[in-house]
Amino acid sequence: MKILVINAGSSSLKYQLIDMATEKAVAKGGCERIGLEGSFLKHKANGKEVIIEKPMPNHQVAVQLVLDALVDKDYGAISSMKEIDAVGHRVVHSGEDFNCSVRITPEVLETIASNTELAPLHQPANITGINACRAIMPDTPMVAVFDTAFHSTMPDYAYMYGVPYEAYKNYKIRRYGFHGSSHLFVSDEAAKYLGKPKEELKIVTCHLGNGSSISAVDGGKCVDTSMGFTPLAGVPMGTRSGDIDPAIVEFLETKTGMTTAEVINYLNKKSGMAGISGVSSDFRDLAAAMEQGNDRARLALDMFAYATKKYVGAYAAAMGGIDCLVFTAGIGENDGYIREKVTDGLSFLGVEIDKAENKIRTGEIHDITAKGGRVKVLVIPTNEELVIARDTARLSK
Ligand code: ADP
Repeated sequence: MKILVINAGSSSLKYQLIDMATEKAVAKGGCERIGLEGSFLKHKANGKEVIIEKPMPNHQVAVQLVLDALVDKDYGAISSMKEIDAVGHRVVHSGEDFNCSVRITPEVLETIASNTELAPLHQPANITGINACRAIMPDTPMVAVFDTAFHSTMPDYAYMYGVPYEAYKNYKIRRYGFHGSSHLFVSDEAAKYLGKPKEELKIVTCHLGNGSSISAVDGGKCVDTSMGFTPLAGVPMGTRSGDIDPAIVEFLETKTGMTTAEVINYLNKKSGMAGISGVSSDFRDLAAAMEQGNDRARLALDMFAYATKKYVGAYAAAMGGIDCLVFTAGIGENDGYIREKVTDGLSFLGVEIDKAENKIRTGEIHDITAKGGRVKVLVIPTNEELVIARDTARLSK
C-alpha cells in the first residue's frame, strides 16, 4: 500500500510517498512559490534529485506536477497514479470537532472550513491542498490528520484560560496545542524503545524546532501542552515571543503606534531568538555568535533552555512524576548544548544525562541517560509524515 502525504501551505506544498510495507518514503519533495513568479518543484526519488521550474498559478497545477514527477520514467517512484492508494492531508486545526483523524467527506470539509478563524493563515491553505487533490484524484480516499487532535485528551482545567467561561463557550477560546503528530509519534516510539506499555509511562516530550512545544503525555494521552490558542504561546521560539503578559500588546501599541495586527506580527515574526539576539533565529548561528562573545546570543539561548526546563518541571508536577524525557525536531535532535542546559540541575527529578553520549549525533533513537539515571532521556527523530500515513492507511481500508 502506498500513501501520498500532503502538507499544503499558502504558497508551498510538501509531499512524501510512503510505502506502508516498509514505512519508508519512496519519494519526497516540495513545490515552492505557488501563485508567485519563479515557482519550482524539488523532487527526490529513485536515487535522483531534480528541480523542475514551471509556472504554478495554483495548488491544483502544483499537485498535477507532483503526480507527473511521481510517475516519471526516469526520476519517478511508481508507474501509474493508480498505485497511490490514499492521500493523507496535514490539517492544522480540528477545533473541538475532531479528536482523531477522519476520512474526508464534503461534510468533514465543511467542518474543517468552519474552524478557519482559529488558524487563519494555515487552514485555508490546507483546504486548498485537499480540494486540489480531490479535483485530480476524485476516487482516491483522502484523510485529514490534525495537528491539534493528539491534545484533545487534555482535561478541562488544563485547556481552559482564566477568561470568563462565555469566551470559551461563544468564541472557542481555549488551549488547543499543536505539533500533535510529532508528540504522538515520539511518545509512542519512546514506549516501544523502553519495551513498556505506553499506558504505564509518564513522558515529557520536547519538540524543539523553529516552532517549539512541550507536552505532558500520561499513559499515552496528552494531558498538557505548552502551545495554546495559537502556536504563538509557550517557550520563546525562533521568531515567536512565546508567553508574554497580554497587557504588553496594548502597551506596545501606545508606545510604537503599531496596530494590533502589527503587534501580533511583531510577536510572531520579529521576536523570540531572532529578536532577543539580533543575530538569527537559527540555533547554529546563535551558538557561533555566543562563542565569539555575543552576549545577546547567549541570553537568547539561556532564555530558551530556562523556559523549556520550567515546562519539564511543571509537567513532572502535573503528572505526579516522570519516567522519560524526549527531545525531538531540529533543535531537540541536533543541539546537544541545549539538551545539556535543559537537563542541568534536574537530578532532583531523576533526570541526568551522559554528557559524552549527548555530544554524539546518531540520527536514530539515542539513549543519553547517565548511568544510574532514573528517568530515561531519549533523543528521537520525529516523523510526522509517518503518523499521517499510518492513520490514512488505517482509515482508507
Ligand atoms: P520546523 O519544522 O519547525 O521548521 P525544524 O524542526 O526543522 O523546524 O528545526 C529547525 C531548527 O533546528 C533550525 O532553525 C535550527 O535552529 C535547528 N537546528 C537544525 N540543525 C541544527 C544543529 N545541527 N544544531 C543546532 N540546531 C540545529
